[in-house]
Amino acid sequence: MSETPSLLRLLIDAGLFIDTGAPGLYGRSGAFEDVIDRIDAAFVRAAGDDVTEVVRFPPGMNRGVFEKSGYLKSFPQLAGTVHAFCGAHGDHMELLEHLAAGEDWMGKQEPTEVVLTPAACYPLYPVVAARGPLAPEGGLFDLQSYCFRHEPSEDPARMQMFRMHEMVRLGDPDQVLAFRAQWLERGQALVASLELPFSLDLANDPFFGRGGKLMAAGQRAQQLKFELLVPIHSEEHPTACFSFNYHQDHFGLTWDLKTAAGEVAHTACVGIGLERVAIALFNQHGLTSADWPPGVRKALWG
Ligand code: AMP
Ligand code: ZN
Repeated sequence: MSETPSLLRLLIDAGLFIDTGAPGLYGRSGAFEDVIDRIDAAFVRAAGDDVTEVVRFPPGMNRGVFEKSGYLKSFPQLAGTVHAFCGAHGDHMELLEHLAAGEDWMGKQEPTEVVLTPAACYPLYPVVAARGPLAPEGGLFDLQSYCFRHEPSEDPARMQMFRMHEMVRLGDPDQVLAFRAQWLERGQALVASLELPFSLDLANDPFFGRGGKLMAAGQRAQQLKFELLVPIHSEEHPTACFSFNYHQDHFGLTWDLKTAAGEVAHTACVGIGLERVAIALFNQHGLTSADWPPGVRKALWG
């Protein structure tokens, strides 16, 4: 009896994903990228008349900024750092010998000033803080980046490198919470227009270690994170395709971000996992996007 092929196998066999030999690291076909572009555009359209400032950062960020952001306190297991060879001629010869012998060749690799961006919004906060206090209406930014998280998996929706498009709001608590409430509605409307089943739930981040459980419980108790979930593999464990995060004054305090009134700024972000929504669509509506239901075609291609 033949087993049902996994979703990853189906995506690779359909040519949508290109296997690289590393779990969670895939090439993407033109057909897949077309869908990504359409989802990305639909996300921006969902922002309606919002006046956003568009900012793009590369997928690597300043290590000092990363260190100060607090990421390592919460998610050391997910972080990826960029190292580079910093040896002399003799070290190079040694490296090549180790390599040829199949041994560890990384002895002379040293950390660079670059780490891989874990979420699209992380590089933004110090940049905004450097401009001085926010305007009375606060700030609203549109960011998109490839992100890295060290969570190798056979689940095609759990990648090590994936794209996140985010809208980030900075201001006083009322402004920031109104933004999040608005995007909770917008996110649901967008996913409904794609004819995907979904649910909305309170969530927590995968905080590391012994203290992690407590932090997760605190995050839930204060309703700081919601996720819009779509069943991809299982009804029981649906996959987060959108996140709606309220950081309270975490980034405001970290970066000395001030409102026009001189208070510590609060921040929130809404993030869409572009590959996750694309995979959910291929899973739900079939592996050929030209054959998707007319409503979905219209929502994405107009
Ligand atoms: P988070 O910062 O964890 O809330 O992530 C924001 C969004 O990025 C999530 O809602 C997902 O849609 C997406 N995402 C997070 N982790 C991954 C991953 N490992 N692979 C693909 N997409 C992801
Ligand atoms: Zn964010």
